[in-house]
Amino acid sequence: MRAAIFNGPHSVEVGERPDPVISAPTDAVVRVVLSCVCGSDLWYYRGDSPHDLGPIGHEFIGVVDEVGPEVRGIAKGDFVIAPFVYCDGTCANCLAGVTSQCVQGGGFGNHGIDGGQGEAVRVPLAGSTLVRVPGSGHSDETMRSLLALSDVMCTGHHAAVSAGVKPGSVVAVVGDGAVGLCGVIAAQRLGAARIIALSRNPSRQKLATAFGAEEHLVIHDAIQEVDRALIQHMTRPENHGAIQGAIDYLTDALLSHLAYEEQELVEPLARFGF
Ligand SMILES: [Zn+2]
Repeated sequence: MRAAIFNGPHSVEVGERPDPVISAPTDAVVRVVLSCVCGSDLWYYRGDSPHDLGPIGHEFIGVVDEVGPEVRGIAKGDFVIAPFVYCDGTCANCLAGVTSQCVQGGGFGNHGIDGGQGEAVRVPLAGSTLVRVPGSGHSDETMRSLLALSDVMCTGHHAAVSAGVKPGSVVAVVGDGAVGLCGVIAAQRLGAARIIALSRNPSRQKLATAFGAEEHLVIHDAIQEVDRALIQHMTRPENHGAIQGAIDYLTDALLSHLAYEEQELVEPLARFGF
C-alpha cells in the first residue's frame, strides 16, 4: 500500500509499506477514508520532537476491512473513527477515563504501528479503540467533521472539561490554532456565558467568532504579549478584581503558551485545562 513515510526532519514522502494484516486476535484492519496532519506532525517535521523513521499520522477515519476473532463491537464494513491512541479499555487508567494513558496502549504512526496517513492501518485492541459511526451516506462536510473527532476536537473538549467549564462560565482560550478553536466550540457546547479568544490571526478570529466567541473576542498582536499581560495583571493585587471578573476559568488549549511556574501564579484566580 502507499503511505506517507517520515524519513527524518524536513523529509516526508509517499512511499510503499506492507499491506496491514491481522497479527493479533484483537486487531482490525481499517481502510483509511480521510486522514489529516496534526500540529504535532509538524513538530516532528521541524525536528522539534523525536519520531521513529517510517509511517506517520494519527488522525484518521475509515472503513473496517477485517477484524480478528476476539474483536467485539466492531465488524467488517463499519465506518469508524480512530482516536489518536489505541487502548484496552480495561486497565485502571482506561477505567478512570484516561484512555490516552492506557498501560497497553500506544499511538498510531510511531513505534512500528501503521500511520493514519496511509491507505490502511492495522488497529491494535480494535474493539476498545475504534468508535463506530452510525448511519451511512454521510456528506463530505460531515466526514470532515467526523475526522476532527480523531484528535483535535477531543483535545479542545478535554481542555474545556478539565478547566471546569460549565453553564455561565467565563472562559479565556489561549491559542487560536485548531485545538484552540475547538476549545472555543467545546466551551460553547458546555454552556459558557462568555468566551474570550486570544488570537492574533484575522482569519482565525473570524472562525472563533463563528464558533461562539463573538463580541467577546479580545485581539492582541501576539500570544506572547497576551501571556505577559495576563501574568502582569494577575500578579499585581490592584488588578486582581478586574482580571478575576473577566476570567473565571482559563482554558489553556495550547499548554506550551504558559509555563508551569506561570500557571502556579494564576491558578488561585483561574482554573486551567489543557
Ligand atoms: Zn487501558
